[in-house]
Amino acid sequence: MTIGDEYDVVVVGGGGAGLAGAVSAAEHGASVLLLEKMPRLGGSTGRAIGSFTSSGTDLQRRAGIVDNPDDHGVDAGLFGPRDYESRNNAELRRWYFGESSATLDWLRGMGLAFHGPSPEPPNRVPRMHNVVPNAKTYVATLQLRLLRLGGTIACNAPVADLAMDDGRVTGVVARIDGATRTITARRGVVLAAGDYTNSSAMISKYRGERFAIVEGINPDALGEGHLLAEAAGAALVNMDITYGPELRFVPPQGATLEQLLPSRGPLLRLVTVVMPLVPGAVWRWMIKRLLVTWQHPDDAMLADGAILVNRDGRRFCDEGISPDREIAVAGQPDKQAFMLLDESLIERYGAWPHYVSTAPEIAYAYVPDYLRLRPDIAVAGASLAEIGRARHLPAGALEESVARYAASFVDAAVAAADDATPADDATPADDAASADDAASADVPRTGGRPLAGSRWVLMGPLRAYFTNTEGGAAIDHDLRVLDGSGRPIPGLYAAGQTGLGGMVLWGHGLHIAWALTSGRLVGEVLGRDVPAATGHGAEASPAASDRPSDA
Ligand SMILES: Cc1cc2nc3c(=O)[nH]c(=O)nc-3n(C[C@H](O)[C@H](O)[C@H](O)COP(=O)(O)OP(=O)(O)OC[C@H]3O[C@@H](n4cnc5c(N)ncnc54)[C@H](O)[C@@H]3O)c2cc1C
Repeated sequence: MTIGDEYDVVVVGGGGAGLAGAVSAAEHGASVLLLEKMPRLGGSTGRAIGSFTSSGTDLQRRAGIVDNPDDHGVDAGLFGPRDYESRNNAELRRWYFGESSATLDWLRGMGLAFHGPSPEPPNRVPRMHNVVPNAKTYVATLQLRLLRLGGTIACNAPVADLAMDDGRVTGVVARIDGATRTITARRGVVLAAGDYTNSSAMISKYRGERFAIVEGINPDALGEGHLLAEAAGAALVNMDITYGPELRFVPPQGATLEQLLPSRGPLLRLVTVVMPLVPGAVWRWMIKRLLVTWQHPDDAMLADGAILVNRDGRRFCDEGISPDREIAVAGQPDKQAFMLLDESLIERYGAWPHYVSTAPEIAYAYVPDYLRLRPDIAVAGASLAEIGRARHLPAGALEESVARYAASFVDAAVAAADDATPADDATPADDAASADDAASADVPRTGGRPLAGSRWVLMGPLRAYFTNTEGGAAIDHDLRVLDGSGRPIPGLYAAGQTGLGGMVLWGHGLHIAWALTSGRLVGEVLGRDVPAATGHGAEASPAASDRPSDA
């Protein structure tokens, strides 16, 4: 494949936003080059589950759901922490919500099928649409479409710099086939390089130094798009807001059933046609299998008394305090921890409404689901010794940790009683007793209670991760990147996580919907009025009648 020196549009990053932007620009007749730094496309989008949350959609209407983006805007504000929500760019988010249902139509027009919509409280109506079989299919479908439209894709092609002339971004400087090349973008450069969840330097700078040891789920998410935007004069907004750190089970070794499902080609087409005919119960079973691959155990389990131990079988943090516990997990050997449940927790987290993990309504996974579907990260036993052995923890370590933990509650009760006793009654024997107390003192615990019973479950390994970072370049409705005075930087555009523009997108499904919607829209902007001679567009947009009926 030959890479030319000049294109209408150069896209930096081949995740959901970059691919959507490239396809959309090519559909409008623009010549497009997409540069991806990794050997293959996908980014965080390719690792995601694929939920796309949107309001006023055709699939909602078919399900008899009346909805609109204004209501959605109100409900979306109920998901995130209040202090984050108060910093949301409300005007931009409302505008985005008004555009996302058209993106869903656009994607369905390419043959993608969605399950749902599914409920996710506090959304007042079901809004979550889940792509079939998972988010890899966004990547495969958009890649194929871009190639059919005559777009050019270069992998292993990191963009290191923006070319600028008199304040205008004129192209990019990239490493392609071992050579440093400057490539001109006649209409614009789109930064779609994802987020900075795995940049310890940026996390440290914006979130705080103590968070720097927490990794991003996507190891390649290094914030290069943000740095390129900043170097060109962009204002970066809400850079200290992060989704996480949160604890997540490590993903399974090898491919899951859903990963084995086709995400491209004629077989995907077949899956797309067959899936809507599959009964709901089978669907829920399949999606449950998918969900227990990358899940975040509900924090309520720790609040209800579960404890964390490390690879040595030792407690190491106050499980009741976040984000300190997540930071502490990141500091353990292999950055790993296990969660220990006693009999009453096993029972409590065995059925609704107490789930281990969720993507609401479509699949709540409980302790028995994990024991059945993920034996690699959930083990049950009649004794602590049995489950400790199964996870190769040092012999006796779990028993000792649980005993010390139980003793710490007795010690606390004795100390409370002592506090009530006048101090001048203290005797040498009392002093010796308090020295013993100190020796048996355990890591402090907020809330909690001693663990007991004749059945135990050990879940993990768990690691602490950042899932997303929420900071991005300031943008306007044309996806133009804005400087500190709110003026567009000529020739520079941003989409997806790089161009979040100060929006706070909490809950499931809003990040992918933004990546794909901002991509679709920036392509429309950059493809506007392209003279026929410059463009490579080969195919028209698929007609509505080509769309699969995946209601
Ligand atoms: C495990 C997981 C599950 C998730 N599930 C969901 C979900 O179900 N629904 C949802 O809405 N959100 C979900 N998210 C979040 C969502 O996937 C992302 O926010 C979204 O996909 C980001 O899309 P993007 O195109 O902006 O970035 P990405 O998909 O990360 O793409 C950015 C691309 O740019 C490339 N790149 C970076 N720097 C350069 C450079 N200098 N030169 C060239 N290329 C570069 C990267 O390699 C990458 O391929 C999930 C995230 C994770 C980690």
